Amino acid sequence: MGESRTHLPVLDARATAQPRALGSGSLGTDGRRRRPYPADVRGRWVRARRVVYFALIALWAALPWIPIGGHPAVFLDVDRRSFFLFGATFNAQDIWLLFFAVTGFGFGLAVLTALLGRAWCGWACPQTVFVEGVFRPIERLVNGPRNTALERAKGPTTFDTIWRKFATHALYVVAAAFAAHVFLAYFVSLPGLWAMLRTSPAAHPEAFAWMLGTTALFYVSFGVAREQFCVVVCPYGRLQSVLIDDDALVVGYDERRGEPRGKAKTEGRGDCVDCNRCVVVCPTGIDIREGLQLDCIACTACIDACDDVMDRLKQPRGLIRYDSLRGLRGEARRFLRPRLVVYGVMLLAGVAVAAVALHRREPFEANALRLPGTPYTREAGKLRNGFELHLVNKSSSPATFTIAPAAPGDLEVLIPIPSVEIEPLGSRRVPFFVSLDEARFDGDRPITLRVTGNGASKDVATRFLGAPAAGGPR
Ligand code: SF4
Ligand code: SF4
Repeated sequence: MGESRTHLPVLDARATAQPRALGSGSLGTDGRRRRPYPADVRGRWVRARRVVYFALIALWAALPWIPIGGHPAVFLDVDRRSFFLFGATFNAQDIWLLFFAVTGFGFGLAVLTALLGRAWCGWACPQTVFVEGVFRPIERLVNGPRNTALERAKGPTTFDTIWRKFATHALYVVAAAFAAHVFLAYFVSLPGLWAMLRTSPAAHPEAFAWMLGTTALFYVSFGVAREQFCVVVCPYGRLQSVLIDDDALVVGYDERRGEPRGKAKTEGRGDCVDCNRCVVVCPTGIDIREGLQLDCIACTACIDACDDVMDRLKQPRGLIRYDSLRGLRGEARRFLRPRLVVYGVMLLAGVAVAAVALHRREPFEANALRLPGTPYTREAGKLRNGFELHLVNKSSSPATFTIAPAAPGDLEVLIPIPSVEIEPLGSRRVPFFVSLDEARFDGDRPITLRVTGNGASKDVATRFLGAPAAGGPR
């Protein structure tokens, strides 16, 4: 099929000796944005992506509505430091679990990338889902298809262009505000959000400020920045050059089959008829034929566009397709590679440790705290220490806790409230006092209380402090 024009893999055409074709990409070499106006495309991948986007947006909007165990499926009650996730309940003491969540997500993404390239970017990233699922359709609705929108953008400013621009951005703001309200519901719950909506913003200024900030963020990110977010801001996009290897699945152009490209009647050409259709549908404005680039979010639009061209030309589909870089070179793809094993082992190790940590997570917290002031007092020949037992009920239902001394020996332990009921995720401080005859004191000694509740029991240790009586044992 002729000599290759580019060298795969190329993760950023700008970083190689092969310059990006003029007019390709949304970021010019002068650093200015070249705003893409992607053309409409139809095909199996676009249809599948629409279904996935719809399902993800529906799920995202539904989670604050779906009750599990008496709470929304996801409710991050930051005010009360209580977090409800799919029936499980966490509080501030469980914040360390966030480490596992973040690292697990990171390793999961590394494994996914080693296997499926940027599938996350094209199919599940909120940036792509909202841009392609909500904001792009708004733009199409008001401004029409690519050619019409381009003509308007390049033409003179008229009443028609002004009202369309105004309507587009007004609808963006409405969509961003709606998304921001759903987002807020994750933190204040739906009833909380509903109550806020019926009162003045002055009654809940912090939540109102968060809503405004999130609306602005969504508007700028999904309505204005769009592909620039992926190309310039997103750290995951920047990591592609280290995460993707020759065996990861990517959206790629088969240059062995396509080159030398040429118009339909060109003698000796490859299968690419240089129709530019794959370029004009690209939401990041790149030419996939230049090789794999950081700007490619693997959205599959160019696959459908080229398949459509191939269908019309009665050529086999797949000139642009999902394949590995090795596969595009005509070599066999390796599934098991060292990086996949390393990422996979790290992910499994993280999941195993997180599972054990979750399993061993206690249903309540109990800590003995010394009362402020002197560590001990002397009264009627006795040494006396005062403490507070800080109890935290970590379950989402009320629980009764009983407190008793464990093997007190000659220590006298007084617990004025030996049984205490605590509301869901609530906490109480229960005082207790420990005494010992001065004459028996022979040094600091351990004290242990046994706390039972929520189907578990826990020994809480602290120390009895004192000083021997004058003339007593030392
Ligand atoms: S859509 Fe296919 S045939 Fe047309 S320019 Fe792109 S790769 Fe070539
Ligand atoms: S090159 Fe193809 S897959 Fe990549 S972003 Fe552009 S249209 Fe999507």
